[in-house]
Amino acid sequence: MRTSIATVCVSGNLREKLEAIAAAGFRAVELFENDLIAFPGSPAEVRRLCADLDLAIVTCQPFRDFEGMPADKRQRTFDRAERKFDLLQELGTDMLFVCSSVAPDAQGGIDRLAADFRELGERAARRGLRVGYEALAWGRHINDYRDSWEVVRRADHPAVGTVLDTFHIFSRSLDLNPIRAIPGDRIFLVQIADAPRMQMDYLSWGRHWRCLPGQGEFDLVAFMDALATTGYDGYLSLEIFNDRFRAGSARSVALDGRRSLIALMDETGRKSGAPLAGAARMPPPGAVENVEFIEFAIDEADRGQFEAFLAAMGFARTGQHRSKDVSLWRQGNIRIVLNSDKEGFAHSYQITHGTSVCALALKVPDARRTLDRARALLDTPHKGAVSPGELDIPAVRGLGGSLLYFVDDTTDLGKWSEVDFLPVGVPKPDAGLGEVDHVSQTMQYEEMLSWLLFYTSLFDASKTPSQAVLDPGGIVQSQVVESGLGGGHAGFRLVLNGSQSHRTLSARFVTDFFGSGVQHIALRTDDIKATVGKLLANGVRMLPVPENYYDDLEVRTDLPQVELAALKELNILFDRDPAGTFLHAYTTSMDGGFFFEIVQRQGYSGYGAANAGVRLSVQANLAERAELPDA
Ligand code: MG
Ligand code: MG
Repeated sequence: MRTSIATVCVSGNLREKLEAIAAAGFRAVELFENDLIAFPGSPAEVRRLCADLDLAIVTCQPFRDFEGMPADKRQRTFDRAERKFDLLQELGTDMLFVCSSVAPDAQGGIDRLAADFRELGERAARRGLRVGYEALAWGRHINDYRDSWEVVRRADHPAVGTVLDTFHIFSRSLDLNPIRAIPGDRIFLVQIADAPRMQMDYLSWGRHWRCLPGQGEFDLVAFMDALATTGYDGYLSLEIFNDRFRAGSARSVALDGRRSLIALMDETGRKSGAPLAGAARMPPPGAVENVEFIEFAIDEADRGQFEAFLAAMGFARTGQHRSKDVSLWRQGNIRIVLNSDKEGFAHSYQITHGTSVCALALKVPDARRTLDRARALLDTPHKGAVSPGELDIPAVRGLGGSLLYFVDDTTDLGKWSEVDFLPVGVPKPDAGLGEVDHVSQTMQYEEMLSWLLFYTSLFDASKTPSQAVLDPGGIVQSQVVESGLGGGHAGFRLVLNGSQSHRTLSARFVTDFFGSGVQHIALRTDDIKATVGKLLANGVRMLPVPENYYDDLEVRTDLPQVELAALKELNILFDRDPAGTFLHAYTTSMDGGFFFEIVQRQGYSGYGAANAGVRLSVQANLAERAELPDA
């Protein structure tokens, strides 16, 4: 199947849209009427522009309110269609795209509609054109693809075919099986969109919330599987109406579009056991076994203070890089790399972002195959400077220009800490922290869907629905990507946060630190009270939790008094889900930026979202106080 994208998906004027679409590697485009109308040139110029960019024009859509018009208006709609045929011919494309009528005076009756389409097909055929018919979920009489197909079937004209659009099919939860009975050559176009499940009218849902395959909750693989049985070999065309995309970068949305289709075709092929025609070949996605290390970029001036903080957190310096100003800190299975080298990636990252997480390393079943998959998905590989004898760890560009490294246990990459580091010092008593529980990344709201797609296409990963969290400065959207949980490894849990308000902690983080990045890392302990006790004894400042929180906890839970008192004493928050309980506490942040979370999970699978509002309020208070001039 060939891929295409509608101009409505991306931001900008028509020229900017087409350039972004071509730059992403698309070779075909659906022109949206609004984009054409606003273009300050003739259709012939648009045709030339597309030809110069090597873009075929699939159609110029839509043509509305055609079928079922009462007798006095019927002639007029055919006249309109003839004008549209003129336009299509000027553009050098051959398909009139008709979406089902929403006109108040449109009449139903499947044979009447079929007769309209037979005549339209006859007129189109005279000019060597075709007609595709799509059922809008909010169509007046035709709002189900099975009915639009029945109209097309009864029209019984070779120039009339049907258009399948996944949004209109999934939003109405329609059965996919009847797709298998449609002959592939009678499907003239397939439009692809995903969307989150929402309770709202079809029109508002469809005009604002569609997203790229993999970013929403529709089972597009099941659709593709049904489609594959029809023998359809036309375009797979993205048609996404999304407010975030309209506000985002056209180039990155177009690139994400290509990535989403590549991933969708790959997944469909893998699940059905036979690669789809036209699908890119790539290794299958692997589950992330664990976060192997977290690398901070830090300059020499700030390093002493940060090392003291790490030591107070129970980490011990266990290695020194053989050739670079880089040290390795360790506690349990948590490894932190401090990079103060004057050259290379971390240094430039530190100059731009200040002290921050510049790289995450993930352990996967096969690091080099993971890089191959990343390349096939159009991710950006990164190659750093490597001295002789040191490991060349595969990496791609991640959020905010940071790096994502891949290591594995099957090659020497798993021995990175021995190959690249000389052992130093002796481990001292730690604070009981054993694993990285989750990593929280904060980003521009417009970027969230992009990074969601990045992680879920690259790895064998699942995602939770997006959740709204209340910050005193506005709403923060939060969505979780999980991989490799329950496989005998620690796995990988990643929380993505984005906010449209400029006053939330998330937004301030992005502004103050010159971009998106890791805002907090949660570390797991089996005994949070003992761990927090040690941290406090070591001088770590924990985030204070208001007394009201514990009064409320007493009201809404059955926790014993002694337990409540212990939690209050140590500023530990509590949550539970049907499977278990969650205890967590936060360190105060470094300069209003990065902080650690300490967590203890007992069967619980969430992230303490119920407590996020309290945490964000306290952090906002502290940040405000820090901004006051010294008294
Ligand atoms: Mg459509
Ligand atoms: Mg957290």
